[in-house]
This record gives sequence, structure tokens and C-alpha cells, in this order.
Amino acid sequence: MKEILVISGKGGAGKTSLTAALAGLMAPCVLVDCDVDAADLHLLLQPKVQETHPFISGQEPVLDASRCVGCGRCEELCRFEAIRLSPAGQPGFVPGACEGCGVCADHCPEEAIAMTPRQCGEWHRSTTSAGTMIHARLFPGAENSGKLVAAIRKTAKETALAQGCDFLLSDGPPGIGCPVIASLSGVDFALLVTEPSVSGLHDLRRIIELVRGFEVDFQVIINKADIHPAMTADIEDFCQSQRIDVAGKISYSRLFVETLRRGHTVMAHPASDPEQEIMALWKHLSSLKAFQKTPNNDKETKA
Ligand code: SF4
Ligand code: SF4
Repeated sequence: MKEILVISGKGGAGKTSLTAALAGLMAPCVLVDCDVDAADLHLLLQPKVQETHPFISGQEPVLDASRCVGCGRCEELCRFEAIRLSPAGQPGFVPGACEGCGVCADHCPEEAIAMTPRQCGEWHRSTTSAGTMIHARLFPGAENSGKLVAAIRKTAKETALAQGCDFLLSDGPPGIGCPVIASLSGVDFALLVTEPSVSGLHDLRRIIELVRGFEVDFQVIINKADIHPAMTADIEDFCQSQRIDVAGKISYSRLFVETLRRGHTVMAHPASDPEQEIMALWKHLSSLKAFQKTPNNDKETKA
């Protein structure tokens, strides 16, 4: 089983549309949407949710008001200003401010505060036309997106191995932060999606540096390549200077936007320009070693 990650240094480069299009060509595969802060792969693949599970990470304080005497010790000791005493002397927790350190619970003289597991989000196991999809949602203001990415990747990998799939296809988060790092470790190959703009090239450089740090093989896809030919040429020159292969160039098409709006992919439009370009991209990718099918259970413990 090969794990392929589609990633870009920024949002809006077309990463998710390409992931959804490739999913159909890799089917049956297992998909994982690692963009847990703003997941959108489900908009294109229309998953049918089969299971929902809580994502628990860290702890949060819960007050037993019947024991509280309103001494204010907890408010005084909280370094994160996450506790406010009401005029009546009742402690309240400031939404999103608590770091779960447990100091308030440890020092409450009345043992009126207890630390309990904190639910930061939820994850789903769903079915799509391309295969099983594992996706998640981090609650607003919740942290630990890197942990959630690691958790759903682990589940997706176990699912792919159990189902005997040849591919696990990951839609990576934008940027170069913690969730991206959690998406990268142990993948077999990364497709770096960029677009022809100054910021696109800047972000491509950053993501290349990150991917190289993980020693993951990768190639670049230039999306919307025809909207700025000179900039596309600059990106190609940069890649050549760095001995990086450009896997393909995809032209801008309204069809990507239309299919996103309608909830399907450009592959539902045979012989359209985008479909033809993605087929050409797939032909190239299929020739790469990372996309050759191998027996399962070959690298179960890598991630
Ligand atoms: S330290 Fe305990 S008793 Fe004092 S105000 Fe806080 S919760 Fe109430
Ligand atoms: S657990 Fe820590 S951060 Fe949260 S309210 Fe208590 S003292 Fe403040």
C-alpha cells in the first residue's frame, strides 16, 4: 500500500479538486482529509457517514458549584486568565482560554473543580464512490489539530491495509504548520500543488524545504498554469534549477469551480480539457515507482 499526499504551501491552489479527481483514478482507495481545520474534500466526494467518533485531547476543568465557597483561589492562580469570578463569587471558565493545566483543580481547597477529558472535535468513517474516507472536524477554537491529523491518518492507514487497497490518498492541510508536519511523516510520495503567482512560488519554496526535511519523494503540479505563462515558466525554471520534476501542468477551467459547486469532480466530464489533462497527469504518475502497486503489509509501521 502506498500513501500519497497532495499538499500545497497555501490554500486556494486547487489541491482538493486535484485530490478528488485523482481519487477516482486510484479507486478503490482510502481517502483521508487532513485539513481538519477547514475540511472541504467532502464537498466534492459527497461521503455517506457510517460512523462518528469523538476526538478527545487533553483535559478541561468542570466545576461542582455545590462545593464552591467562592474563595477566588482558582481565579488568582490561573495563569491563562481562563477563570472569572462572577459578582456573586461563582467561578466561570472563559471559552477558549483554558490550557488544561489543572492548577485550579489541584489547588481548590474545597475540591470543587475536577479535570475531565476534553472533546476537541470528531472524526468520521464514510463511504464515497472512490472508497472509504476518513475525515474530521476540529471544534472552533480547539487546538491539537496535529494530533487529530495523526489520529485520522493512523485510522486511514489501518483501514487501507485491512481492505487491501493499493493507495491511501491524503488531502493535506494548507501552510507549513503542525498539521502539515503531522500529514507528512512516513508518506511515500508528495504531490506539491502550486499556482503561477509570486506568492505561489514563495509558498512552493517553503513547502519544498519542509518536504525535503522529511526525505519524502515529491514532484510539483502547476495548477492554473495558463493564467500567467511567464510565472509558470519561472516556476519551471526554479524546479529545473533544483532538479525537481514537474509532474504536470493543469490549465485553468471554470469546470473546476462548477464541479465544486455541484458536488462532483471534473472526471465526471469525459473528454473535457481538465479531464484530459488529469488523465495525462495520471499516466505520468502511474509510471513512477511510488505509484507501482506492491503487496500489502509492506510498511505498516512507517507512519
Ligand atoms: S478555588 Fe474552589 S472554592 Fe475557591 S472559588 Fe475556585 S472553585 Fe470555588
Ligand atoms: S485548567 Fe489551568 S488554564 Fe484551565 S482554568 Fe484551570 S488553571 Fe486555568
